[in-house]
Amino acid sequence: MAIYFMDGKFTNKDEIKISIEDRGYYFGDGVYEVVKVYSGKFFTEEEHINRLFESAKKIKMTMPYTKEQISSIIKELIVQNKLIEGHVYLQVTRGSATRQHHFPTPSVQPVVTAYTVEATRPILDMEKGVSVKSVEDVRWLRCDIKSLNLLGSVLAKEEAKDAGYAEALLHRDGIVTEGSSTNMFGVKDGVVYTHPVSNLILEGITRQVVLTLCGQLGIPVKEQAFMLAEAYEMDEFFYTSTTAEVMPITKIDDQLIGSGKRGRYTEKLQQAFTAQIPRLGSGING
Ligand SMILES: *Cc1c(COP(=O)(O)O)cnc(C)c1O
Repeated sequence: MAIYFMDGKFTNKDEIKISIEDRGYYFGDGVYEVVKVYSGKFFTEEEHINRLFESAKKIKMTMPYTKEQISSIIKELIVQNKLIEGHVYLQVTRGSATRQHHFPTPSVQPVVTAYTVEATRPILDMEKGVSVKSVEDVRWLRCDIKSLNLLGSVLAKEEAKDAGYAEALLHRDGIVTEGSSTNMFGVKDGVVYTHPVSNLILEGITRQVVLTLCGQLGIPVKEQAFMLAEAYEMDEFFYTSTTAEVMPITKIDDQLIGSGKRGRYTEKLQQAFTAQIPRLGSGING
């Protein structure tokens, strides 16, 4: 039986009792992380934990654990669930209190829950590519926070899925921001373009990894916003996330991108990404 974490205990799902007054439930008042596990090892650990603490700080929530304790919780979950490949979901809500919009007074303890998910890499899609649907970005103006308040993303993703697309390509007044839970990249004449870090996008860890790989491979990058109309004209397009890695996009709305196949820069970045993945037998969490 899968082992879950809640408030200091590793336990069965059935033992977990979330209060009806949890502020995550009432308001989406909390933050979260999804961390990838390859070969039983936690990938880009420090980056994810740092971002979790940054998100908490941005919503003025004091984390009930240290970074080291969060790291131990995740590692313990990986061990207890014997997770080899998949991810860990971890969220922190502001806690449980009588429903009032302002922060609870006196303050309450934030609620930390976490669990593991077994999942394999999306290899087939990574070769063939996927299609995305443009959807207006109606989210709030603090998309830099990985918050539980995801209704804007939920509605965008549903609209895309309902129309038969893998992901939503969000744009604000025609400017491409990101995906519902992914960062978007275009390649034109050998240059990689992506929206700069701002309050309008979530700074993905995979985005950072890809930008570093571009540097190592000598691929020029412009962190510069571009229009949806320009996106259709890119030679290649892809999105990144912890679970999707580097995902080729072969179609935006009804427009084929480039040849309609995975592009060569996209493939190069995938190969470089794969080379960084922890392998079996390469030491404990190393
Ligand atoms: C989590 C997330 C991403 C991707 O971030 P990774 O750290 O690469 O997984 C991109 N956009 C949004 C809105 C997200 O929530």
